Amino acid sequence: MAPDQINIAIAGAGLMGRLLAWCLSNKGHQITLFDSGTLEKPTGACHTAAGMISPLSELFHCPPPIYQLGLQSLQHWPQWATQLEQQTGIPVDYRQKGSILVAHPQDRNELLQFQQELNAKLPPENQNQLQWLEHQTLQNLEPDLDRFDQGLYLGPEADIDNRKLLPALREAIAQNQVTLRENTQVDCEENTIVTATSRESFDLVIDTRGLGAREQIQGLRGVRGEVMVVETPEVHLHRPVRLLHPRYQLYAVPRANNQTVIGATEIESDDLSPISLRSTMELSSALYSIHPAFAEARVIETRVNCRPATMDNLPVVQSSPGLIRVNGLFRHGYLLAPTLVQQVETQIEMITDKQVTPCN
Ligand SMILES: Cc1cc2nc3c(=O)[nH]c(=O)nc-3n(C[C@H](O)[C@H](O)[C@H](O)COP(=O)(O)OP(=O)(O)OC[C@H]3O[C@@H](n4cnc5c(N)ncnc54)[C@H](O)[C@@H]3O)c2cc1C
Repeated sequence: MAPDQINIAIAGAGLMGRLLAWCLSNKGHQITLFDSGTLEKPTGACHTAAGMISPLSELFHCPPPIYQLGLQSLQHWPQWATQLEQQTGIPVDYRQKGSILVAHPQDRNELLQFQQELNAKLPPENQNQLQWLEHQTLQNLEPDLDRFDQGLYLGPEADIDNRKLLPALREAIAQNQVTLRENTQVDCEENTIVTATSRESFDLVIDTRGLGAREQIQGLRGVRGEVMVVETPEVHLHRPVRLLHPRYQLYAVPRANNQTVIGATEIESDDLSPISLRSTMELSSALYSIHPAFAEARVIETRVNCRPATMDNLPVVQSSPGLIRVNGLFRHGYLLAPTLVQQVETQIEMITDKQVTPCN
């Protein structure tokens, strides 16, 4: 290893852990990646997610830093997606075609309220990121949304197929000769990974265990989310669509093979038990109200997981000598991950600069 390359342990091979392992191994660092499960069958929130990269939609629900960090991430995803596809040959289906919000005529105020609230939060120079769509323009973009008169178009938004991205990252990490330690539950201390049977030393430990680090991150909590995957050849959407409704919200993210991911509930709970009947009914009926042909869609899969969230719903990057913890990605892991990876890389550069600076 060159003097500015170090021996790093990453705990947790979810979204953050995999991305960091890939990016840091690309820079020549020696990486060991630990996970309590396997990389082939991930159990973290990353596996359940819908993969939307949606800074504007999130600005409606969340504090403004999420939007700013998300816009920075959007600059990295296209290049990362291409680089990963070239390295592994696995398409990750990154798509930046914007997203569309619709509401039924009786709920039109929901769209107006969304627009007003977003415009109040957006810097004036970015207010053109949000556009009204009248019936014909909406039809041109999404012919199957023909029962809606109007919509809102959020131009910069993107999405990625996480069920392809995660295996692609697994493959890329293996090619980069990252050492994998699967089925290994760990604790993280400064410069040390603690397993049931050993204490192992590293130049740096990065803790990306999501909810597995609950005892180390003050106030970290789980927020249950339920999604369904349905399949029908009858409806063709080309980008994520959100339905605004006074009582529940729905997104529908089209995927390959006539599949659509629909979600998601947001319940203050750590409960990982299967999807409830109520959530199934609410998601299904909201979807059916977008297009009646969804009634005959087949339910391919239901997924449940808990998002790792801090008390203010903002991510944390905590740094102490020999230990960095990244957590609290909540409902925006895919939105924020590239910016957070960059923040970690900057901290590592500061550490290695100190190490290689000759003493006078
Ligand atoms: C229903 C749902 C929908 C979502 N949709 C989106 C979306 O559309 N867009 C978006 O940006 N975000 C979305 N998210 C959020 C996103 O999935 C999370 O923010 C992201 O996965 C968090 O990444 P992470 O790497 O911090 O944690 P995780 O992905 O949870 O990974 C943590 C990893 O740590 C491992 N681990 C835990 N404890 C230990 C231990 N003691 N030792 C070793 N390994 C351990 C776990 O096995 C796991 O692999 C969604 C989440 C849910 C639940």
